[in-house]
Formats: sequence, C-alpha cells, structure tokens
Amino acid sequence: MKLDVDVLRYLSKDDFRVLTAVEMGMRNHEIVPSDLIGRIASLKHGGTYKVLKNLLKHKLVHHDSSKYDGFRLTYLGYDFLAIKTMVNRGVFTAVGRQIGVGKESDIFEVSNEDGTVMAMKLHRLGRTSFRAVKSKRDYLRHRSSFNWLYLSRLAALKEFAFMKALEEHGFPVPNAVDCNRHCVVMSLIQGYPLVQVKQLQNPETVFETIIGLVVRLAEHGLIHCDFNEFNIMIDDDEKVTMIDFPQMVSVSHRNAQMYFDRDIECIFKFFGKRFNLSFEQCSDDIDDDESSRPSFSSITKTAGFLDKELAASGFTRKDEDDIQKFIEGDVEEDDVSDDEHDSELCQTNIKGFDSLHLDQEESTSRCNEEGEGQVVEILQSPEVGQSGDPESQNLSSNEGDENDDTELVKSLAKQRRRAMAAARKGHHKNSTSRNSYKDKGGKSSNNSKIQKQLASW
Ligand code: ADP
Ligand code: MG
Repeated sequence: MKLDVDVLRYLSKDDFRVLTAVEMGMRNHEIVPSDLIGRIASLKHGGTYKVLKNLLKHKLVHHDSSKYDGFRLTYLGYDFLAIKTMVNRGVFTAVGRQIGVGKESDIFEVSNEDGTVMAMKLHRLGRTSFRAVKSKRDYLRHRSSFNWLYLSRLAALKEFAFMKALEEHGFPVPNAVDCNRHCVVMSLIQGYPLVQVKQLQNPETVFETIIGLVVRLAEHGLIHCDFNEFNIMIDDDEKVTMIDFPQMVSVSHRNAQMYFDRDIECIFKFFGKRFNLSFEQCSDDIDDDESSRPSFSSITKTAGFLDKELAASGFTRKDEDDIQKFIEGDVEEDDVSDDEHDSELCQTNIKGFDSLHLDQEESTSRCNEEGEGQVVEILQSPEVGQSGDPESQNLSSNEGDENDDTELVKSLAKQRRRAMAAARKGHHKNSTSRNSYKDKGGKSSNNSKIQKQLASW
C-alpha cells in the first residue's frame, strides 16, 4: 500500500466526514460498529455505507466483522486526516517524496504556497505491536481505544513540544512548525544523517560539538536516549543538527545515568571507528573520569528546566507517563497478520508527483508543479475536525479541531503562526531536492526506495 496522496483529490466532503466519524468512534472502540459510524457522521441522505465502501477501496479504513460489523482507521486513513488538517490550516499545500523511514516514522517533504520545503514526520508508534500493547498492559486494560492512534499522537506531540523547547533554548534542532494527530511538520534540514558521512574536514570539532550537546542537554535536565549517528544531521559546513525526540527522558529518570552513558558511548564508538579519533587527544577538556567520558554525576543538572515550555506546547506529565510506559515496556511481537503488514502498516510510499485537486466542489484549484513535478499539490478545503463524545454527538458541519482543549488549540495555533513566520524567513524557496546534494562519500540513502522496517519494542 502506498501513501497515494493522489487519492486525496478524489475524496469528497462526505468521505472525510465518515473518516472522521471512524476516528471519533475509535476513542471508545477498537473496531467502530458500522451503525455508530452512521450515527456520528449523520449524513443528510444516509449513504454512510456507500462512503465506507469507497474508503475501504482506498484502504483508508479496515473492515472487521469478526465480532460485529465494524471498521477501524488504517494508518493511511489517519495520515489523510492529518494531512487534510494541515492543508486546511495552510501549513503546506503539497506533499513530495519520502525522505526518511525510521523505526517508528515515515518522513516526507512537503511544501507551502511560497515553495518553502519542509519535513513532515508521520509517527508510527506501535506500528507492529499496538494490538499486543492493548492486550498485555495493565494501564491499557480499561481503555479499549488506547491504541496506536493515541500512542502515535502522543509521540508527535512530545516531539513537537521538545523541539520547540529545545529551539527556544538555543539547541540546534529543526524549527517546529506544526503538529496535528501523529504528524509533525518541521523545517527541512539541509544535510545528511551522520551515518552517511564518510569524511569530515574537522572530525574533532564535530565530535566535541556533539558531546557538548549531550552534556548541555543534561544540564537542561534532559537525555536524548537515542543519540547516535542516525539522529544527528550534518550539513556541508559541518554544522550539526539533532533530530528525533520522542524517547527523551528527564535526568531524574531512574535509568538516567545508563541512558546518558549510552548516548555518550555511541558517539565515542562511532567517531573512533569511522574517523579514527583517538579520544585521549581530542577530548581532554571534557574528560573527567578514567575512561575519558564526560561523567553524568559531575554535570550540574537542572531537572524541570524545560517544563514550562513543554507544558506550553500542550504536553502534560500524564502524556509523558503514558508514553514512557509504552516505550519502556516489553511488547511482544504482535498478532497482526502478514497480509495486514503488507497492506497497510509497512510500505508507505508516494505515488506519482502530479498535481491534485482535493474536494473540488469546495476548493479553488491550484496547480504548482515544481522542478520535475515532484510535488503533489493539495488544495484548500474546510477543515475536517472532531469534537466531543462520539457516542452522544454527531459531527456538525463546522467541526472544531481534534483537540477538545481550546486552550491547547489556541496555544498551538499561536506557535504555528510564529513558526510559519520563522520558516518563511529562514527557509525560503528551497525547491532543491536533497537527492541532488553532493554525497559526502557515504552510502546513498536510497530514498527513492521504500524500505520495509518493522520494529518490535
Ligand atoms: P525515527 O524516529 O523513525 O528514527 P527520525 O526523526 O530519526 O525518525 O527521522 C528518520 C530520518 O528522516 C532521518 O534519519 C533523516 O534522514 C530524515 N529526517 C528526519 N527529520 C528530518 C528533517 N527535519 N530534515 C531532513 N531530514 C529529516
Ligand atoms: Mg531516528
């Protein structure tokens, strides 16, 4: 199955209404009964069944009649809801090629009206294991709808909140533009993951910058927990940017020391192997134990340093607890069939790069193919949202956003406006494909090919 954004242009307002109804139903049901979907969507002339058939055809929902007749969203369906919301907010107007595939995410280029290219990360937390998670965890037992939608949304919110907070404290991170559901939009880093870089002009300087970042993070009360050559980007001027924050923990975490040492060790190992660095020489000034590693105990740490900023982005302590419980738990391989993996969970892909007209009746059509036409143009149409309890409330024609909390929505909207302004200033008219970048000697990232990566937690 592909992230065939082309399909977006054929989806009608009713399609999105029913898709949103399924999403709302999933707050309380793993499989949403068909009649409930009908009640939530309450289409004027009935017809939910026909719409569901169309959604099924495009693999936006999955049909399950094992216990009762019902549907659930697929990743693709969730992707479409987030993409549509972003488009309606004016965050971007086109989706381009896939530029990254991680354990728990797929990353695409997107561009806005000005032609500013950004990165969109779609979180896939629990991609392989959400069913196992649901059945095996105590804290999930009482919440049937606690599932991959929730986990992926939390991961996105956490990433967005941390990115913003870190940026505000001067850390080299992408500019966090917006967040909706499991989707985070951020500035596109013009560089390569360190793992692809075979040569550096100044490996010692880069090494010390990176180790300095781990130390400075700890001083700010944080440990990255996945700080390695895959999550460090480096550009042609050897400027370092760190990415990928959903697994960060506080320095007061019970395993903080272990996570800190592991992050440091990863960097030492990588630079030792790849760039033949001898650490006795280049890291004298940061040595403070026998093994020449910065020591966790000697760093002056301020836990809670970023709490205010994180709260401002809507990421709460409860969110953090939930996501940590998930990250730290032992989740067994799930029971999702191979067929299902193939059909919806693994191979996200972009098909074609033609322009597209979304929901033609209610949108003005615009077509803005760039370069070799590597963008799929998505057009503006009224926002799809949801509110309230799905059992008791129908979708009204003027739905709010997915979040019930208006304060949160307001604060996110404000941040978004600021971030959009910053993105416009800093990353103007970047339509160059990252493929056209000179390879620094590393293995090609093979971005055009979609890799199948399944992770079990
Ligand atoms: P995961 O959590 O799945 O590991 P990452 O955030 O590490 O996802 O992203 C995976 C890959 O996508 C990165 O290694 C990088 O190549 C690319 N990537 C992620 N964010 C950006 C960005 N803002 N700009 C450019 N490339 C990015
Ligand atoms: Mg990563």
